[in-house]
Amino acid sequence: MTSLETCGGILTVDLDALAANWRNLRDRLAPGCACGAVIKADAYGTGAAEAGPVLVRAGCAHLFVATLDEGIALREVIDHWGLDAAIHVFNGLCPGSAADMAHERLTPVLNSLAEVADWSAYCRLRDIRLPADLHVDTGMSRLGLPEDELRRLADDPSLLDGIVLGHVVSHLTSSEEAGDPSNPRQLAAFQRARAMLPGAKASFANSSGIFLGPEYHFDLARPGAALYGVNPTPGQPNPMAQVVRLQGKILQVRQIDTPQTVGYGATHAVMGPTRIATLGVGYADGYLRSGGNKASGYIGDVRAPVVGRISMDLTTVDVSDVPEPLAQPGMLVDLIGPHNPVDDLAGACGTIGYEVLTSLGHRYHRIYTGGIHVELDGLTT
Ligand SMILES: *Cc1c(COP(=O)(O)O)cnc(C)c1O
Repeated sequence: MTSLETCGGILTVDLDALAANWRNLRDRLAPGCACGAVIKADAYGTGAAEAGPVLVRAGCAHLFVATLDEGIALREVIDHWGLDAAIHVFNGLCPGSAADMAHERLTPVLNSLAEVADWSAYCRLRDIRLPADLHVDTGMSRLGLPEDELRRLADDPSLLDGIVLGHVVSHLTSSEEAGDPSNPRQLAAFQRARAMLPGAKASFANSSGIFLGPEYHFDLARPGAALYGVNPTPGQPNPMAQVVRLQGKILQVRQIDTPQTVGYGATHAVMGPTRIATLGVGYADGYLRSGGNKASGYIGDVRAPVVGRISMDLTTVDVSDVPEPLAQPGMLVDLIGPHNPVDDLAGACGTIGYEVLTSLGHRYHRIYTGGIHVELDGLTT
């Protein structure tokens, strides 16, 4: 627990905005295409134990996580609320994990023929049939069956004995660039792969992939980032609602009247009369150090630029433009908010919204608004 009177930061997650973003994406899908939700990495830093149930209650029947451990924790939460959803595990079947995967009713995304053999053997030994997805590589060269493995599978369907094949899955490399030739190239490769596995459903589009058009939708979409407010159409207005607000609390304000420098390395020089507010948020909280001298805070509508380097636990902002009564110890500065959404902070830090969100720290006092939030007493989530 953290105190509301925290001397650090307050992270507010708007669960109604999350659900609205999911419905927004669902409504864009081609007829017959279901909308899943990717809640790996603790729902991109926002909290999978809160996001998962809210999304399932909104109608989402397919949740995706990256790892077995994430899947186990999520299954406990979903069961706890008496809900039901398929939980797909992107990283697939690590050696020795089949029993846990089956016991927790998780759906592995099988990434190689070896994983297919492992899951099939587990099923045949117990004379049961269990679901799995099959990831085919169409250009990411990361996970998934390359074309030659896929051909061997197509030539010998008995390799899938015991497996209830759910979705054939592939992942786009450049979906946020609508005009990138990789997109149609991967689409064609995906269609060739599907033709080798007739009857299986298909899942292709991530957040930005949904915006490439209905031919990219297939049977199940897998949006992640857009659910949490990251713009899936960079360069165009953001169609998503902001889910995250991050506020840093002012610990001290100092009036500087003589020329001096601010922070480690003396990277910011103050020449004339200036007021500097020190916030109890730093890079140990995931407020990325690369935002030093670049990122912006806001008090109300007034910008308070980050000056000097960001420290481990502290950040300094210039509040000279803010009326003095509004920049006092104990008051809050938006570090992610209406005027500086996730993508803006990411831009200032030279990274992407995904990294800003998944870096969100664990020292923040977290507030969940909307949804139906009940304390998860006694749950190991
Ligand atoms: C993370 C991930 C997604 C979600 O991507 P976003 O760009 O966040 O929508 C979908 N599919 C796979 C395989 C992923 O790893």
